[in-house]
Amino acid sequence: MRKNIVAGNWKMNTTVPEGVQLATEVNAALAGKKVNCDVVICVPFTHLTSVNQVINQNKLGLGAENCADHKSGAYTGEVSASMVASTGATYVILGHSERRQYYGETSETLKEKVALAFENNLTPIFCIGEVLEQRENGTYFDVVKSQIEEALFNLSAEDFGKVILAYEPVWAIGTGKTATDDQAEEMHAYIRNLIVEKYGKEVAENTSILYGGSCKPSNAKALFAKPNVDGGLIGGASLKCADFMGIVEAFD
Ligand code: PEP
Repeated sequence: MRKNIVAGNWKMNTTVPEGVQLATEVNAALAGKKVNCDVVICVPFTHLTSVNQVINQNKLGLGAENCADHKSGAYTGEVSASMVASTGATYVILGHSERRQYYGETSETLKEKVALAFENNLTPIFCIGEVLEQRENGTYFDVVKSQIEEALFNLSAEDFGKVILAYEPVWAIGTGKTATDDQAEEMHAYIRNLIVEKYGKEVAENTSILYGGSCKPSNAKALFAKPNVDGGLIGGASLKCADFMGIVEAFD
């Protein structure tokens, strides 16, 4: 059966010492505690090696927030999937709406990134989601369908089965405006059905689909109670240990 997962996305926040402190706190909060989901933190590239030294990855997974769409070479400022893997990280967020919106990431580049993540044994946390205009003009199912088809449906069933999906309606990210649990469930059920049609029921039932967008301790329980919502990708609320743990503990 699929896993429940709560993953933090720190984005471009914290210095290295601050990040190490936050990771140390989350690691301590998880130590000796039985939680009912996998817990992951995705942190800036600069933090990966230091954070890896202060966490127990049996309890707290570590990921990057992006990786390059090339293996290596003359790509000044880029960080490759193999570099990420060499820090000890095992996850990578790909296709976050902020990357799509501000850095021009397309399905074509994302396809390359996914392939490189797999080559380096990184688990992609692959983000999809519509902007407000698409929600309002009713094209949101088609938008999400295209994002998944274009970047992921070239994968073998075996590889697709290793992807974690994160549905993040862009209008809910960092806005304080959460999708209702019914809106999240409607989209998650739609996504799962797309996977059934492409890869069959078994792969679909085993795929974790996270919700992201202003998820916090006060709304996590209702969201996670929905049958097709398998956890959350958490931005702002992952920057405070107590808030992040409050969301982890929503799986009781
Ligand atoms: C995110 O950016 O992945 C996210 C879900 O952000 P926030 O929780 O701050 O809305």
